[in-house]
Amino acid sequence: MRHQYRKWIGYVFFENGGRTVDYLFELVTENVYVLAVWDSAWNSYNNCYLVVKKEGVTLIDCGKKEHSSYLVEALNKLGRSPEDVTLIVATHGHEDHVQGAAVFKNAKKFIHPNERSHIEYPEPDEFTYELSDHGILEDYEYRLVGLHTPGSIAIFHQPSKILFTGDFLCFFGDPLSKDGLVSDGNDLKKEWLEYLRGGGVSKDHLDRLLEGLSTMKGFDAHIMCTGHGGVLVGDIERFISGLLEIGENLGKNEIVQ
Ligand SMILES: [Zn+2]
Ligand SMILES: [Zn+2]
Repeated sequence: MRHQYRKWIGYVFFENGGRTVDYLFELVTENVYVLAVWDSAWNSYNNCYLVVKKEGVTLIDCGKKEHSSYLVEALNKLGRSPEDVTLIVATHGHEDHVQGAAVFKNAKKFIHPNERSHIEYPEPDEFTYELSDHGILEDYEYRLVGLHTPGSIAIFHQPSKILFTGDFLCFFGDPLSKDGLVSDGNDLKKEWLEYLRGGGVSKDHLDRLLEGLSTMKGFDAHIMCTGHGGVLVGDIERFISGLLEIGENLGKNEIVQ
């Protein structure tokens, strides 16, 4: 009975009969799910991810506090409960990535030590700050990318070949791909390439972006799961190489000028 239908939509209904999407919850690949919560305050989807194993559930990021009930609903849809969450890895310490952690009392919670001083979480000591700049934690290989926040990490899940990029590379405030939340996202990839080409990333940040992208290229990812919006399936290496090429050219032009 595993994997029958694997898409859910949560709606908020208004008194006048209207409704708006509250969250999308979808299968990404075997045993990995995305919960994309529509955040009307930020006009963006905020994403978190559930990696489901018999022994327990891992969350990569866990959303804002006010959205944690959606995460519980999502777990329930999979026949799991908050008690089954045994591991949380946060890509960085912003509220939309850590605050939901409060609900999961049985989970070990990891974040990079560079986030300790500014983590947006009321009980910072609930998190463990033992990640190094490059290491392995259970099925996950992670690396410090240090852009967006000083302790932002990229996380590679070897069994599913998914790269979790957090907000280092994401689609904050962007519409979803015309092909849906989980898709090849060619339109989104194209927009990111254009954004970079058009100078969307400041010169100060460009070097670190390129460094982070080179790191990500080494992972041989098949799927890219970001902190906000569309989940990209396929051609990830080509996408990253395209970004690197544009970024390196921008860097060269800067030297010539
Ligand atoms: Zn962030
Ligand atoms: Zn975020």
